[in-house]
Amino acid sequence: MAYLAAHFASGGSASGASGAFAASQSGANACGRVLAEGIAADRDYPPFDRSTRDGFAVRAADAAVPGVTLDRIGEIKAGGGFDRVVGPGECVQIMTGAAVPSGADSVVMIEHVAVSGERVTLDRAAELGKNIVRRGSEARAGQELLTIGTRLGYAEMAVAAQVGRYCVGVWARPRIAILSTGDEVVDVTATPGPLQIRNSNGLALETLVALAGGEPVPLGNAPDEKGELRRRIERGLEADVLVLSGGVSMGKYDLVEAVLADLGAEIFFDAVEIRPGRPAVFAQCRGKLVFGLPGNPVSTMVTFELFVVPAMDLLGGAAPRPVPLFGARLLHAVHERGALTHFLPAEVTRTDSAGDPQVSTLAWQGSGDTVAVARANAFLVVPAEKLDWDEGEWAMVLPRGGSCGGTF
Ligand code: AMP
Ligand code: MG
Repeated sequence: MAYLAAHFASGGSASGASGAFAASQSGANACGRVLAEGIAADRDYPPFDRSTRDGFAVRAADAAVPGVTLDRIGEIKAGGGFDRVVGPGECVQIMTGAAVPSGADSVVMIEHVAVSGERVTLDRAAELGKNIVRRGSEARAGQELLTIGTRLGYAEMAVAAQVGRYCVGVWARPRIAILSTGDEVVDVTATPGPLQIRNSNGLALETLVALAGGEPVPLGNAPDEKGELRRRIERGLEADVLVLSGGVSMGKYDLVEAVLADLGAEIFFDAVEIRPGRPAVFAQCRGKLVFGLPGNPVSTMVTFELFVVPAMDLLGGAAPRPVPLFGARLLHAVHERGALTHFLPAEVTRTDSAGDPQVSTLAWQGSGDTVAVARANAFLVVPAEKLDWDEGEWAMVLPRGGSCGGTF
């Protein structure tokens, strides 16, 4: 990641942070995109002293004790003005969202008054500033509310809308070329022969890229043959990032690393102490980032979530989202073998009386078992340092992107 951070800061050619790739997006089209500019408050927020309740605007000093009766001198609707000053012994009926009139410094909720004609009796003492949000207390005019690099979720969209920014500058989505490999792999629309399989990784990766805020560039499947594989990889290097699946293990026909080496790639790592996903490759080739993910579908998914998503964040101009691990109580003992960190398809529920999240693993047949992952809403993470767990212990859980945890 240090490499990526440096690359990003220097505005490297693969990086959306260079500024050259920025674009404008308006309205809901901007959602999920990353700001290429800061967004500032166009005026104070709130722009006036705002009542947060339906009730009566009063002078707190008039009603220091319960039972005081005041004269109602008018009413103020949300959006409406009031041109008088509230004097001693007076009050004004006020609606939620309306501007508190001058002279008044407290709002008593409608639930706490008895109205008789124009006479209003408060059943409690008024408190200075109660139910009023002061002008500028949420934000000052000119204050930066959203910084460059912010990803636009619903709250950020609301802030931009509030300050009148329908159209905002955003970084281009990183373009992620997706190339699967394998002689046995056929297109999803083709009928596989008895010993062939459909290219499920292609579509899974397109989905992962889209969920992570990138633009997928599907390049189909390359055979396990050096010449054609090299040609396809060279095409993939035209995108910002190339993600391959398959062909990175120790088999005779696992050719990805060799082809990358032929192309002069710098390999940063070609093994990770995780299962599934151990033979994952991370390289740089012709100034582009390349991820060679193992072809077993679950390995592809896990390694994408762990390694490609943070890189996409950086290249897309955003700070990398932290891996959103959380704790859950194990519903059963877990014993794993092999000094690797294990990711097991799991289901997180919240049914115990304490409200603690609970986790149980799902039956699965290993890293080819997409059906088990589709049933799971998380992965149980069993770290290499502690492979044996008792029922009831707090364990680590990684929500599955696109399920209970959203994108990460
Ligand atoms: P590999 O990493 O190439 O050794 O492949 C490991 C396993 O994943 C093999 O069983 C492959 O058939 C399977 N696999 C490889 N690529 C894909 C793909 N694109 N879609 C589904 N399964 C795949
Ligand atoms: Mg293969």
